[in-house]
Amino acid sequence: MDVLVIGSGGREHALCWKIAQSPLAGRLYCAPGNAGIAQIADCVDLAPLDFDGIVRFCREKNIGFVVVGPEDPLVNGLADRLAREDIRHFGPSAAAARLEGSKGFTKDLCAEHNIPTAAYGRFSDAARAKAFAGAKGAPIVVKADGLAAGKGVIIAETVAQAHAAIDEIFGGRFGQAGAQVVVEEFMTGEEASFFAFTDGKTALALAAAQDHKRVFDNDQGPNTGGMGAYSPAPVMDEAMSARVMREIIEPTVSAMHERGMPFRGVLFAGLMITSEGPKLIEYNARFGDPETQVLMMRMESDILPALMACHDGTLDKITLTWKRDAALTVVMAANGYPGDYAKGSEIRGLDAAGALPQTQIFHAGTRADAGKVLANGGRVLNVTALGANVSEAQARAYAAIAKIDWPEGFCRRDIGFRAIARERETI
Ligand code: AMP
Repeated sequence: MDVLVIGSGGREHALCWKIAQSPLAGRLYCAPGNAGIAQIADCVDLAPLDFDGIVRFCREKNIGFVVVGPEDPLVNGLADRLAREDIRHFGPSAAAARLEGSKGFTKDLCAEHNIPTAAYGRFSDAARAKAFAGAKGAPIVVKADGLAAGKGVIIAETVAQAHAAIDEIFGGRFGQAGAQVVVEEFMTGEEASFFAFTDGKTALALAAAQDHKRVFDNDQGPNTGGMGAYSPAPVMDEAMSARVMREIIEPTVSAMHERGMPFRGVLFAGLMITSEGPKLIEYNARFGDPETQVLMMRMESDILPALMACHDGTLDKITLTWKRDAALTVVMAANGYPGDYAKGSEIRGLDAAGALPQTQIFHAGTRADAGKVLANGGRVLNVTALGANVSEAQARAYAAIAKIDWPEGFCRRDIGFRAIARERETI
């Protein structure tokens, strides 16, 4: 069966890498892909929002299964369109993707079904939002309701900052995404990214991961799309995983089913593990980036049957096995990221780095040009390795980075530091 993956990031490279290993996969295509994906799949020059073009391509090539990576096409209805065209696919409908597309929708669903999350208010006017923030006191979190490319969350240290954030969002900084505002309690604890497949009825836990959002070492500097990740997450032991499934994931899956918008795909729960237990920070309706890179390294089972079961409603027949090894990925980004950065610099040494044992280099913003690999985005490479524990995986990833010759790029030098500190304590 021929497969089309939609997207062009490290997440999609990791998905293509894993799908390419499936005995069920025939030809593999990726739209639009990148220089790394081009080494294992045929890249097709189609934008993820070009639904007509995607459907036409699927017909032309007789594509048996489409895997949608990013949130934008999902929130805009690519899965609905593929369903109407009778093309099997992985990824939720636009209605179900509201779990990511509207924070207010998710908070209301949590409140209705007793799913643990931060106490909140949802507002469409500034005065009431400000009064709520004032009454709750700082620190407090102000969020634009809709998709804001990860920038719509403001942690306010003072009520004045919260008021300024509310004005900014209603002032149009995030366009339509800021038509409503959620103001919520500030939670403390350790964060983890938890993933579960669901076919609308059954949910199946994947592994958990932890990422590093800040751009500089020791979690300093502005937030990014993610500078590195590792799995497993020490805070998510088996008991905590079971609790998250019982208290958060399963009630969400049944609530969405009851509302007539079954969620079929991967639920990515951003969690805060607080002293009272796990609480939901937010849902994403697709795989995480860079978390997927480490999950794919650890997944032992064939991924394609599981992806198809999410579509077909047969997830209860699927089990997944995982390597006990830890995986860790370090993001290499263009100098200046997450601010302005230049494109087009050459990256050398990738073959030598990728040839090291237990190491994979997943490309994000790269493009091939006359046999060279050029930087073509902010986050550019994900240098990923397996090891007996996080320390070993980290050592391998940085050994690979040492072989990459790219003066125009940088990376954090401390990915995995929390897990490694725990490993040292237990030695
Ligand atoms: P989100 O885009 O909702 O995942 O938020 C981005 C980041 O803001 C999260 O990864 C958390 O670090 C932080 N955050 C969001 N909501 C809260 C909250 N209620 N309490 C504490 N931190 C939060």
